[in-house]
Amino acid sequence: MRIARFVHPGGAAFGVVEGGSPEAGLDSLTVAEIEGHPFGPIQFTGQRWALPDVRLLSPILPSKVVGVGRNHAAHAAELGNDVPAAPLIFLKPSTAVIGPADAIRLPPDSHQVEHEAELAVVIGATGARDLPADRALSAVLGYTCANDVTARDQQKADVQFTRAKGHDSFCPIGPWIETDFDPSDVAVRCEVDGEVRQDGRTRDMVFDVATLISYVSHVMTLLPGDVILTGTPAGVGPLVAGQRVAVSVEGIGTLTNPVIARS
Ligand code: MG
Repeated sequence: MRIARFVHPGGAAFGVVEGGSPEAGLDSLTVAEIEGHPFGPIQFTGQRWALPDVRLLSPILPSKVVGVGRNHAAHAAELGNDVPAAPLIFLKPSTAVIGPADAIRLPPDSHQVEHEAELAVVIGATGARDLPADRALSAVLGYTCANDVTARDQQKADVQFTRAKGHDSFCPIGPWIETDFDPSDVAVRCEVDGEVRQDGRTRDMVFDVATLISYVSHVMTLLPGDVILTGTPAGVGPLVAGQRVAVSVEGIGTLTNPVIARS
């Protein structure tokens, strides 16, 4: 099931995207509105729209986004880093989250903003904490695509990652949450204006999804809608104004965002 959040003529709602394959193109899909939120039994309102007739929003508004650094050995190496002995986690503020087609806005105080294509985990459980790894996946609502946009020059200049990864618009997620999904071995790709920049697989993660959820849950309580970014494969590179960046996760779909200068 693909859960989206969208604006229709009467307001904003969650819905279930139906029809076609995720790669078949948005024009072939419809979205069926659901009552309330998706954290529990799904009840349909009976309202339904063609997907081109609505505007997709970020599929969830998380209370927090937890990032994981250096979780692909080839990416750690391209930035001159070793693979950490335990997951290296950081926070992105909820205000960084944007949805499909929303613009990534380049801040004027950075000259090196880069894309990071990632698989994102969306938590569904209430008050998930101290989860053992063998039960961690039961806390998951589903998975989506994310771009862990990073001002690399600020990341290098600061000890903390907060500024580099915390700018408004630096966390595109979407286009929807896929609930029927095995995260163990799927392709994670990034294209900029049609040029392939990143092409990795989740099987090459240093720490797998269950291990990451368990680790984070021993630090902080995970709430419904919270997002964990599982780390980017090799191939990160610069974004400049006027480009379009597309993150694809096999079996989920494609998240596309234009890049503009922040005025
Ligand atoms: Mg990242």
